[in-house]
Amino acid sequence: LKRNPGETEFHQAVLEVLECLGPVVTKHPEYLERKIIERICEPERQIIFRVPWQDDKGTVHINRGFRVEFNSSLGPYKGGLRFHPSVYLGIIKFLGFEQIFKNSLTGLPIGGGKGGSDFDPKGRSDDEVMRFCQSFMTELYRHLGEHTDVPAGDIGVGGREIGYMFGQYKRITNRYEPGVLTGKGLTWGGSLVRTEATGYGATFFVNEMLKARKNSFDGKTCLVSGSGNVAIYTIEKIHQLGGKCVACSDSNGVIYDEKGLDLDLIKQLKEVERRRIQDYASVHKHAKYIPNGNIWEIPCQVAMPSATQNEINGKDAATLVKNGCIAVGEGANMPTTPEGVKVFLDAKIAYGPGKAANAGGVATSALEMQQNAGRDSWSFEYTEKKLEDIMINIHSNCFETADEYGAPGNYVLGANICGFIKVANAMVAHGLI
Ligand code: NDP
Repeated sequence: LKRNPGETEFHQAVLEVLECLGPVVTKHPEYLERKIIERICEPERQIIFRVPWQDDKGTVHINRGFRVEFNSSLGPYKGGLRFHPSVYLGIIKFLGFEQIFKNSLTGLPIGGGKGGSDFDPKGRSDDEVMRFCQSFMTELYRHLGEHTDVPAGDIGVGGREIGYMFGQYKRITNRYEPGVLTGKGLTWGGSLVRTEATGYGATFFVNEMLKARKNSFDGKTCLVSGSGNVAIYTIEKIHQLGGKCVACSDSNGVIYDEKGLDLDLIKQLKEVERRRIQDYASVHKHAKYIPNGNIWEIPCQVAMPSATQNEINGKDAATLVKNGCIAVGEGANMPTTPEGVKVFLDAKIAYGPGKAANAGGVATSALEMQQNAGRDSWSFEYTEKKLEDIMINIHSNCFETADEYGAPGNYVLGANICGFIKVANAMVAHGLI
């Protein structure tokens, strides 16, 4: 705490992992001897830089850019970029720290990193976003490379932003290096299923948790918070698996449609027209828009938080459980506060923490890197099957590890231990670096 003052979210993420590791370090004294815990909590490198840009009126703005290269034991740093006004070092470090274990869980050769800026893309024109992305990449490019550090999208960074950043990287380096960024467009090195991957993957993970309890999505009423990339494809896969998603949200309010959400309309509003979710209710008059509403008060059996950190507190978790929720799968990173996590674990509902449940996004990014390295592109069906297999594998590893360490059904413990051991072993093997 003293070493990283004020980085609340980072403290929260570290504490959650360390609380699970007692039995592991007892079993492996070499981890203590080699100070693996202290080393894993210290990023290998943190880059903070100035991002100057001009808006359409000619006014100059200065934002702050970040890239935290946390751990490269298993492969090049890999993790998204977040553009949101709330971004500061503590957020990027929490995300980077989580990313180490998540990436380890995928079984693919990727290290952990994260980056972003306090730039707010909301209400900015296309040209403004392009100028910002170009300025951001003008500094960041020198730290990247397909064998070094490979960013992707996150909140506020989608295909458009990745395109502008890729263009600037190519221009500065004079290299067409598709493996340097993931989430690219399909005609210039992108992978099918990457757009859908985090939402689809989280839903596959929940499906596995339900199957382990001899249950399924069939006929279940579901809630998905957010209305961005992860939320949209979570809703899509829930519907494909027979569930009915009745509500989604954004930072201004909640849309409740008891007939089941019209996903085509949501895609049109959010992906094509870049409008707000509120406009759903002006098309479907039967749907309710609840300004500043709390989505977790709507009764459901499955909840999939897919917006942002700490969106479910202890009280929300208790409400969900009381209303009959049997499964929670986190599409977002750390969306549940420690009090909320305790409620879910005490109630023994199926609770899939983000670092396991939402690992499908980064896993498919690693598949995109594989295709780039082989100058290949795979079909949708083939890539989706690979994603599903990866999620099934993550589920069974977390499930079995929880069992092995005497906490059956506790996916938090399973994910943290399973993700940690592989990284710790690689760090021991690489010596004191
Ligand atoms: P998007 O920018 O596409 O969408 C984010 C959504 O969450 C929007 O609806 C946004 O509403 C809402 N939201 C963001 N911040 C807040 C806030 N402070 N309060 C309330 N609502 C908020 O981002 P993604 O869908 O890509 O990311 C969502 C979550 O999933 C994040 O936690 C991210 O880290 C995680 N994730 C994403 C992956 C990916 O592949 N994209 C991979 C793994 C995890 P509004 O428009 O009003 O801000």
